[in-house]
Formats: sequence, structure tokens, C-alpha cells
Amino acid sequence: MIDIHCHILPSLDDGASHMTESVEMAREAVKQGITTIVATPHHLNGSFENDKTTILNKVIELNERLAKEGIDLTILPGQECRIIGELVAEYNKGSILTANDKGKYIFIELPSNSVPLYTEKLLFDLQLNGLIPVIVHPERNAEFISNPDKLYQLVKKGACTQITASSLVGKFGKNIKKFTHNLIEANLTHFIASDAHNIKTRSFFLAEAYEEIEAKYGKSIRYMFMENAELLVEGETIYKEAPERVKKKKLFGIF
Ligand code: FE
Repeated sequence: MIDIHCHILPSLDDGASHMTESVEMAREAVKQGITTIVATPHHLNGSFENDKTTILNKVIELNERLAKEGIDLTILPGQECRIIGELVAEYNKGSILTANDKGKYIFIELPSNSVPLYTEKLLFDLQLNGLIPVIVHPERNAEFISNPDKLYQLVKKGACTQITASSLVGKFGKNIKKFTHNLIEANLTHFIASDAHNIKTRSFFLAEAYEEIEAKYGKSIRYMFMENAELLVEGETIYKEAPERVKKKKLFGIF
């Protein structure tokens, strides 16, 4: 099992605060059946700046430590970049890191309460540069929750999205859980990942989430999500179904 979004690198952001905590997270990941993690430290979110070189070096350091500890887990490089108007310029300057440094998928974090007006144009510009934007945790964005058509429009125009395992199993409450399922049902999401920050308050729940997906939607949907994670890591084209609008009546349960 591959986890494509996780704050496991030590001392870079609000994830693992030091190497010991990274190792604890790695042990928990292995318990869950995770074999590979794309490490995605925050970048340009107002609190943390972690450019490509910093992350690549930390990934080497953590992999060396895991090998020494005999933990069978591979860490790959990634980055969770906050949306900024100058993202294409930043990419061209070389500070932005795509998933597994393949030059294809780029994780984009939106503010938690809004979707900036320039989002659609920026996601389009990224695609013109050969990149595929992956909007992380759309299920926790207040504007998408109140107006899911915004997300539909972005997905229709080529953006991918990644939901969070803990949202799906209900760790962020019933409403977010319901909306997460709405997104799966409307083909508005393509990946599931842990976004784990630690093992106490923001752990993995990835195995539980896949179990729930299989129970509710069947094996084929479970394997579609799992394969998409593999394809992302390889920089290949993922499986996608035509996006649909979230049906209004389904939303009633949210508020
Ligand atoms: Fe994150």
C-alpha cells in the first residue's frame, strides 16, 4: 500500500518534530500495511518553507535511518505547496518538487476556508506547463463544502483531487465524512492518502479507509484508488471517471 501524502520527514513542518517521531510514524505505517510513503512537507503556507533540495536531502536521511532500524518502508520525495499566484514561476525557479520528483503531479493546498479567485487560471497554467495539479483534502475546504460545483468545475478542467483517510473514517466529524463520500460518489476524487502528522492526534487510518471503501463501493473502486497511487508515484496517467455534480439532496445531511 502506498501513502502519497504524509508529514513524516523530521523537523521540517508541523509533522514529525524529530527523527525519533519519524521512526515511530514509520513503524505505525508498516503496521497498517504501508510499504511506500511520499513525504510531503508544507511549502509556502505562511509558516513553513521547504524547497525541493531541502526535501530531497531529508528523504535520503530518513531512508538511511529506516534501513538502520530494519524498518521495511520506502520514503519518496514530495511536497505540499500552498496555492500562490507565482506558483508557475516558483516551479520554473526550481523550488517546487513534484510527486516522487517525476515532473508530473503537483500537490496543491488551498486555504481551509476559501478558494482563491485565481485558482482556476493557475491550475490551467500548471497544466500548460505539463503538470497535473492534485488538490489535497478538498473535503475540508469550507467553500467546496458549501459550493461543491466549484470543485466540479476544477476537476472537469483537468485537476485531480486527494481525499484524506481520516476524513473518510469520520475523524473530522460526520459532516466531513459525508462530504468525503459525496466526492467519491460524484467521481470528484482520484486519490486517498493519510496526511498523517503524528501517531497521536493525526495518524494514518489508511487501512481502515480502504476497508470502508471496499465495503461501501466494492473491490474495483478500492483497487482503482490503490492503483492511482502507484501510477502517481511513477508519473503515469491515472484512472478517471467523468466527474458529476454532487447532488443537492445529498448535501442536506451536511448542515
Ligand atoms: Fe498535509
